[in-house]
Amino acid sequence: MKNASQCLMVQSVLDSIRFFDQQGWCPATSSNFSWLDPQTPEQFWMSASGLKKSDMSSADFLNLPIDDTERQVWTENNPARLPSAETDLHACVYQVVPTAQAVYHTHSVNSTVLSRLAESTGFMTVENFEILKGFTGVSSHQGPIHIPVLSNSQDMKHLAGQLRPILLEKQPLWGFMLSGHGLYAWGNSPEQARQHVEVFEFLFDATIRLLPHGHFNHPG
Ligand SMILES: [Zn+2]
Repeated sequence: MKNASQCLMVQSVLDSIRFFDQQGWCPATSSNFSWLDPQTPEQFWMSASGLKKSDMSSADFLNLPIDDTERQVWTENNPARLPSAETDLHACVYQVVPTAQAVYHTHSVNSTVLSRLAESTGFMTVENFEILKGFTGVSSHQGPIHIPVLSNSQDMKHLAGQLRPILLEKQPLWGFMLSGHGLYAWGNSPEQARQHVEVFEFLFDATIRLLPHGHFNHPG
């Protein structure tokens, strides 16, 4: 990290990672986190691969180009430093969503279960929850809000190709899910990205509890 503002930013990100880990949303070495470099907005800081989240420090983030071709060159020149395998999806969000300053990816049980249930329709609908007002720009509990759900894949370039048109079409959008995998959420600051993860996870928890009563993906 170069300066005091970047140190404050990484501290905020680390605080959120520890909080998410304490909630059980980052099991094993899963989940990954990034934020846009405030001094060099064509670059972002990405968590390294395969780390236990409770042990992470500021040294565990790599400064990468957002541009896919430049990032490929960086990776070839730095074979010993592996960013998260899902880095391409973070870069895709920064490339397409102009307000995204931080992207957080978690693996909660609830997001894993609900994304499986919603995969066939391609989205999960939430409505009539007061917590919806926790999303930036939302002033009503009513909704409905449709959360995109993509089929999971280990081919990140393929997934990024599927994600790009969804991000371009659906604005504002605060996150999406990968089926059987987890949640991606972002915000215009690390703090707002954390808030959006918390809102999504609250919605997932409430939706799971309503499942026995037949409330799921009802159109608004
Ligand atoms: Zn993941």
